[in-house]
Amino acid sequence: MSSIIKSVKTEYYQIPLAEVLSDAKHGDHTHFELVVCKISCHDGTEGVGYTYTGGTGGRAIYSLVEDELKPFLLGKDASRISQLWEGMIYKLHYVGRGGLLSFAISAIDIALWDIKCKQLDQPLWKVAGGMNDRTRCYAGGIDLNFSQEKLLNNIQGYLDRGFKGVKIKVGKADYREDVQRVAAVRELIGDDIIFMVDANYSLTVETAIRFAKAIEQYDIKWFEEPTIPDDYQGYARIAQSTSIPLAMGENLHTVYEFNYAIQQAKLGFLQPDASNIGGITGWMKVAELAYANNLPICTHGMHELHVSLMSSQPHAGYMEVHSFPIEQYITQPFVVDENGLAVAPNVAGTGVEFDPSLVGQYLIKQS
Ligand SMILES: [Mg+2]
Repeated sequence: MSSIIKSVKTEYYQIPLAEVLSDAKHGDHTHFELVVCKISCHDGTEGVGYTYTGGTGGRAIYSLVEDELKPFLLGKDASRISQLWEGMIYKLHYVGRGGLLSFAISAIDIALWDIKCKQLDQPLWKVAGGMNDRTRCYAGGIDLNFSQEKLLNNIQGYLDRGFKGVKIKVGKADYREDVQRVAAVRELIGDDIIFMVDANYSLTVETAIRFAKAIEQYDIKWFEEPTIPDDYQGYARIAQSTSIPLAMGENLHTVYEFNYAIQQAKLGFLQPDASNIGGITGWMKVAELAYANNLPICTHGMHELHVSLMSSQPHAGYMEVHSFPIEQYITQPFVVDENGLAVAPNVAGTGVEFDPSLVGQYLIKQS
């Protein structure tokens, strides 16, 4: 079986959201971007990888894949994932450590893992570890712009769909309004539903501490990104001032950043995103770091892929089911079982193949 890479095709999409969704730092989201990378080998195996953004930067990621990394990949052996991963990082490290480059490498790396799983004729959840075929999850709302009434209706919708955990955005101009919203949500969901809050790094350390103390009484599973992701010492100050564990990861884009954050930020949960940490290879490295430090591994975004990675791991925490509904554009259904667990697809590969009849209308350009 020849895994020599014959072709790399790149696609760039802008997919509208059903309604405007807002958070504290990025403002309004009207659409998300999808960069898809399809890698074909000489034996006919095709792997599909992808990354996504909150609405900007996608064209630059497309260019990194198409113009910078594709020439490096053509003719290489797709089965040598670590060699290609290191090669891609250090080819562009000087101009692109972390950031956009990590997104581009993610799309390619996921395609390489898809090829590996297909050649093994195994689903990703088994290839990545095989601990379980399903994982705990929660619905992650992007709802800071919702009135309290709409917020509660939205949360009720999550409960009706069978979710056993919910997360809301916080970061209103006056944090006391956030406290009110947290109280109202806890009253609605009762004592048995897992509940998290996410400030999208919008708060000062001092405000984050005041807010955290005010919501401790509502049994909050974690306080996500209270302040800027670069201030590990600030996270530690917040963590030492509240009983609520802290979480971050969507804005840590190298394995080394996770390592420093683990050492310094006193986090309770790690949330790497395979779309921006260097794909499945990067995510697995962070999962190992988490394991060695006795921390639950969690995720941000792309739940249709993360469901397999989270299921595969012994120390899985809670997977975010993100408000960007990528799962609506793929061929495999995304399943949450009667116990509120997300079920990994049991097909060879990652289980994420885009349906052209659904995404085709949103294609902006392709190679
Ligand atoms: Mg978040």
